[in-house]
Amino acid sequence: MKVVVIGAGIIGLLTALRLKQQGVDVVILEKGKVAQESSWAGAGILCPIHPWLYPDSFTELVNASLALYPDLQAELESESGHGIQRIKSGLLIPCFVDDKAKHQEAAQLWSDKFGWDMQRLTAVQAVTKEPTLSPDVQEALLWQDVYQVRNPDLLSAVLFYLHKLGVDVLEQSEVTQLIENGQGHVCGVETVQGRTYDADAVLLAAGSWSAKLAEQSDFKLPVQPVKGQIVLLKTEPNTLKHIVKHDDAYFVPRRDGRILIGATMENVGFERSNTAEALSALLAASKRLVPGLKDAQVEQQWMGFRPGSPDGLPFLGEVPSKKGLWVATGHYRNGVALAPITAKVMADWICGAQPSLNMDAFAPNRPLQESASVGYPKA
Ligand SMILES: Cc1cc2nc3c(=O)[nH]c(=O)nc-3n(C[C@H](O)[C@H](O)[C@H](O)COP(=O)(O)OP(=O)(O)OC[C@H]3O[C@@H](n4cnc5c(N)ncnc54)[C@H](O)[C@@H]3O)c2cc1C
Repeated sequence: MKVVVIGAGIIGLLTALRLKQQGVDVVILEKGKVAQESSWAGAGILCPIHPWLYPDSFTELVNASLALYPDLQAELESESGHGIQRIKSGLLIPCFVDDKAKHQEAAQLWSDKFGWDMQRLTAVQAVTKEPTLSPDVQEALLWQDVYQVRNPDLLSAVLFYLHKLGVDVLEQSEVTQLIENGQGHVCGVETVQGRTYDADAVLLAAGSWSAKLAEQSDFKLPVQPVKGQIVLLKTEPNTLKHIVKHDDAYFVPRRDGRILIGATMENVGFERSNTAEALSALLAASKRLVPGLKDAQVEQQWMGFRPGSPDGLPFLGEVPSKKGLWVATGHYRNGVALAPITAKVMADWICGAQPSLNMDAFAPNRPLQESASVGYPKA
């Protein structure tokens, strides 16, 4: 069996790896350079932001994905020799007087229902754990079991393993067209150079750019870019121990003392600049939430395009009107957390095995309900 994967982000790469392991002849076509877009830019938090705002089917998918991470880490690290820096840093959400009780009850209910251990900390306990936190914190919610991963290391390990298995990952190979046979069955692709690739199945994993190819083939895939800017601070190791988040701002401490502050949520199309406005908004969040970081150096700023969907859920499965065309895209804010289960389900499914999870909520042609809380922001 031959499969063409369109897009070398974490979704395309990891799914290609799982396909190859099932004996599939797989090639990955990438329009630019591999692993440089959203998957490189993301923060690597292995837990959704405000998961209680999503439907239960989403948490079930997340939990199934996170359960695969320990084995994935062991496999990638032993096959590639690269550490992926998956560490259990825990997630702490401080609560201030003006947002007291906003999330606490929903978070507790969600945690109890889905088996996440959540503790409620007093202000003193919170500041004892994280001395750089604001003295205005009233209480905090703590999930000890939340992990993070360092995206570039994860991607390097997957790429190394793919190369070891002999999978072709072709850069500067933008797919411009899906090729169909007379019966509306997708049987290959054509690249910008005019080169064609035959396939028994094509997987569209083109992140924020997925809608364009879909549209050319007359089906609607409402994925759109949601720009996220990030600022990197340099501090001493352990200045911050937990991932700290509040509303849309989060602080992710790496082992080497670097702290990533993320992230803006901008509906500005494919506009790539790093702006002064975003820098000042992220630093203002730092001043309010973790004022103890005031002496940290600003080291770097970058951005990426999250593949946003209207209801916050990914699109996974075969396109009913286009046999042979599969999609795995629209992972929006959660693609790194969801990559292991996406790769497993999609590879098994393409190879003929029905997924054990119910995937109806993620069907490419599901009736869409826009969600103001977890869907992409309106222009
Ligand atoms: C600032 C920020 C913070 C984030 N934080 C987190 C987090 O903490 N946790 C988490 O789980 N997720 C997070 N995410 C989201 C996560 O990064 C994405 O959901 C995930 O990376 C999507 O992976 P992907 O492979 O679908 O897309 P991408 O990584 O964007 O890859 C798609 C690839 O397809 C290529 N492509 C597009 N069109 C074509 C074409 N026609 N032909 C060939 N190739 C094509 C692109 O060049 C690109 O390389 C964050 C994202 C951002 C931007």
